[in-house]
Amino acid sequence: MTIALIDRFRAVLPVSEATPVISLGEGSTPLLSAPRLSERLGVEIWLKWEASNPTGSYKDRGMTMAVSKAAEDGAEAVICASTGNTAASAAAYAARAGIPAVVLTPEGAVAGAKVSQTRMLGAKVLEVRGDFDEALAAAQELSHRGTHVLVNSINPYRREGQKTAVYEIVEELGTAPDAFVIPYGGGGNTSAYAIAIGELGISTPIYSVEAEHRPTTLASAIRIGDPVHAASVQAAGANIVTVSDDEIVAAWLELATTEGLFCEPSSAAGLAAIRRGAVQGERVVLTITGHGLKDTEAADRYAPPLAQVDADPDAIAAAARA
Ligand SMILES: *Cc1c(COP(=O)(O)O)cnc(C)c1O
Repeated sequence: MTIALIDRFRAVLPVSEATPVISLGEGSTPLLSAPRLSERLGVEIWLKWEASNPTGSYKDRGMTMAVSKAAEDGAEAVICASTGNTAASAAAYAARAGIPAVVLTPEGAVAGAKVSQTRMLGAKVLEVRGDFDEALAAAQELSHRGTHVLVNSINPYRREGQKTAVYEIVEELGTAPDAFVIPYGGGGNTSAYAIAIGELGISTPIYSVEAEHRPTTLASAIRIGDPVHAASVQAAGANIVTVSDDEIVAAWLELATTEGLFCEPSSAAGLAAIRRGAVQGERVVLTITGHGLKDTEAADRYAPPLAQVDADPDAIAAAARA
């Protein structure tokens, strides 16, 4: 039977019997070995496949907590600013809780499928004329008025939920890995991992991998100019690695064609860091944060081209070899 993340990790989460469990079966995601990549790069790589969460990204781990606590507190509505995945997750969990969700997206800067997903899930989606940072500031201000609970990663319950990925990894490996490698957008996930590392008393370093040109990177999930958790990322002692969009694309294609995981471009940033030798350790866990189907525009730009062929076996055999 599917176990809710809140129930599985109840002992280490700030919940009580009074907390309604708003769940879509998040967490308990696969930890996949990566034999071909490991051999090619000379390091034992494990892939935490967070795209298998209910809305296709790791955001669901935090959102089950944020929305459950908002429901416990009798929230009238939830609000967030989002580059896409927080929006879809907030919309799904709010629908599940029967609470309205308001989502602010920076105009024109969010992958199309994420907007479709969020709209389908019944959230009020408002495109803000401005960038992510401006949208977040506005959401924060509105939340201070007390009508809307902010479910961005500044909401501390988000990090509490997200930290459970580290518990799962350590439990499944039976020991702490030598490195956690994750993409770095706002830094909420880095600070969540740091919380779990502290609680478990392990000393595994985190590598937080950001795009060289943050405000314009093709990896829209980490297209954040001013990371809101920069101070706690620094306090956590995370190693910050900066990679170019070309490196992200190369890693993204390699992960898909070598291990069969089609992720979002942002999720491949960690592999880009490993490929350039920026990550120390023999056994590393790479968190694959979101699903490739979330951003098919990006995929269409970089995937090998389509070819046309007649419905003829000889022509097909010839074309397949080309
Ligand atoms: C949110 C998100 C990130 C960035 O995570 P932060 O906690 O903002 O650093 C990276 N990849 C995907 C797919 C995301 O949804």
